[in-house]
Amino acid sequence: MNFDSDIKYLKGVGEKRAAMLARLGISRLRDLLTFYPRLYEDWSNITAIKDAAFGEQVCIRAIVGTRCREQVIRKGMTLYKTEVTDGENLLDITFFNNKYAAEKLEQGKEYLFFGKITGKGYFRSMVSPEFTEFNGKGELRAIYPQTAGLNSRAIEKLVKTAFELCESFPDPIPQSIREAYCLMKYKDALLNIHFPESRDLLSEARRRLIFEELFLLELGMMRLREKSRASNATALQSDYSDEFFSLLPFELTNAQKKAIFDSTADMMLSRPMNRLLQGDVGSGKTAVSAALIYNCAGNGFQSALMAPTEVLAVQHYNTMSKFFKDTDIKISLLTGSTPAAEKRKIKSAVKSGETDLLIGTHAIIQKDVEFSSLALAVTDEQHRFGVNQRGALSSKGVSPHTLVMSATPIPRTLALIIYGDLDLSILNEMPRGRQKTETFLIKSDIRERAYGYIKKHLCNGMQGYIVCPLVAENEISELTAANELYKNLSDGFFKGFRLGLLHGKMKPADKKAVMESFSSGETQLLVSTTVIEVGIDVPNAVIMVIENAERFGLSQLHQLRGRIGRGTEKSTCIMISDSGDAHTLKRLNIMVETTDGFRIADEDLRLRGPGDFFGSRQHGLPDLKIADMMTDGEAIRETHAAATDLLKKNPTLSGGEFDLLRSAVNMLFSKGISMN
Ligand code: ADP
Ligand code: MG
Repeated sequence: MNFDSDIKYLKGVGEKRAAMLARLGISRLRDLLTFYPRLYEDWSNITAIKDAAFGEQVCIRAIVGTRCREQVIRKGMTLYKTEVTDGENLLDITFFNNKYAAEKLEQGKEYLFFGKITGKGYFRSMVSPEFTEFNGKGELRAIYPQTAGLNSRAIEKLVKTAFELCESFPDPIPQSIREAYCLMKYKDALLNIHFPESRDLLSEARRRLIFEELFLLELGMMRLREKSRASNATALQSDYSDEFFSLLPFELTNAQKKAIFDSTADMMLSRPMNRLLQGDVGSGKTAVSAALIYNCAGNGFQSALMAPTEVLAVQHYNTMSKFFKDTDIKISLLTGSTPAAEKRKIKSAVKSGETDLLIGTHAIIQKDVEFSSLALAVTDEQHRFGVNQRGALSSKGVSPHTLVMSATPIPRTLALIIYGDLDLSILNEMPRGRQKTETFLIKSDIRERAYGYIKKHLCNGMQGYIVCPLVAENEISELTAANELYKNLSDGFFKGFRLGLLHGKMKPADKKAVMESFSSGETQLLVSTTVIEVGIDVPNAVIMVIENAERFGLSQLHQLRGRIGRGTEKSTCIMISDSGDAHTLKRLNIMVETTDGFRIADEDLRLRGPGDFFGSRQHGLPDLKIADMMTDGEAIRETHAAATDLLKKNPTLSGGEFDLLRSAVNMLFSKGISMN
């Protein structure tokens, strides 16, 4: 058998077990051998019987003193009992109805028994322990994730068989690299991860397998980026940033200026810019992108700005139209709901070069949108887009400069993998005059007081949001909840005020109308679901009430709260929750304590893990089997350096030595990358 052999032909598997294994994602021998244990039972730390504490899981090394005695308690219940000794003390061993185990224990032989100690006083016993013949030393035994019908020991046995029957263990990491980074051979690593010979060898094996996993990932991601960088970008000739500054109604922060300065310098080279603009909610990322767009237009080139939602695309359209109102820059908006006839017109204007800036949702990366001279592609709220979508936008131009904007502070190590050598601009400074948003957590019984507080602000000409409970996986009731709350408030507490309702199920045109009414100040209080979570910018809105705050994740709450505190007025966020759960309260109190996006993202990552962090796996990265983005930072740096180094010397991984590595990298992403 080899790595690609179907698992159902492995001795001890068959159709039924193959189905169970499939549930664990195992269909070939390769999958079984790379089905890594979750943790290990320590059978190497041997306890003397007299030291074994009651109730504790221990490993005892002892000789079987007597043959197992059979004792029928009642029909269907037989006990098998024996005594074992470690030379000093006795331990009773009991099995229930397990003749098979009992018969395996041979009198006079030495075994390791692993189990919980019961009994009292001097009398100690172990019920249904696991055991294995003592072979001179203790061991670490793997514990596998299990599925119904297939326990950890059964999997262990199959893995053992797989090792016996598998003829070769082709190593994707060539010898030269193994030697350079002191990595164990593949087979040894696999053996030691499943059947560790010692603690040291186990950690060597882990290091090697983590290295391999991250190394392949790095190579794949680098390759993906290399593709978009390969061709030449349009080098801008002149810098019109100062001209742009004079169009603005405000003075840019130093951080914004630096980001603009650095990006513009990049764009004056023919090597495509690849930059991440990271800045907390409200730090003014849009103005930075506007400066770059202005520079492109000034040089006679087009730009594209992609937003994750239609509402946000419309807002960007309005913002840019304001910024550029005294210029001759032509802006078009293309979204899923643009009428077909208009779409055609817009596309032809984009194609002819008449349009300078195309703003839109995913619609603008569709195949039939052609640019005449795309020099810059900006994506907003970048973490919402997957790796593939990003690539698609970049492929629109010769190879446009790219700016990705995100409020989500990505841990450095993670950014290294996802964005590689992407240059980074950070807006670590808020526009002048901002005040810290105050946040409160209250119970629903004083909701009316919170509403009263909103009313006071509305009377003073300010605006606010009430964010409705999100009923997970049930859009109908989410809708009903929002509708009902809106009706109740309009006819009740807020009678006489101008309320608006925004939810995800509305027609785009209606959404647009609601948002416009709110932006213009016509609507005073917006009742909304989380549609407003991303990017919405209405600086006059200074108060937000979040209902059932416990249903939101930390980053989501941070994004929501980021909708207020965007002007010079003091803003207030009131979270309502009746949750009594300590964990939840801790989470919500982090929101009360801090407005620091970095700290919040950190906590979020800790609480939910990186998969969730980026939204439902949208980042497009393959699953990791052994490496951990959070804790393997050191390995990420090492493999990043190793991959960079290798690709510099051998960009296409050519040569027989690299055949396996090349095909492993190609296999990694289901679509999109090829090393050839
Ligand atoms: P985000 O980084 O969250 O996308 P925006 O770009 O939407 O933030 O900017 C938030 C608000 O701050 C907008 O109303 C914008 O016009 C305003 N703004 C941006 N830069 C400045 C500045 N330097 N001074 C004052 N207001 C600014
Ligand atoms: Mg924004």
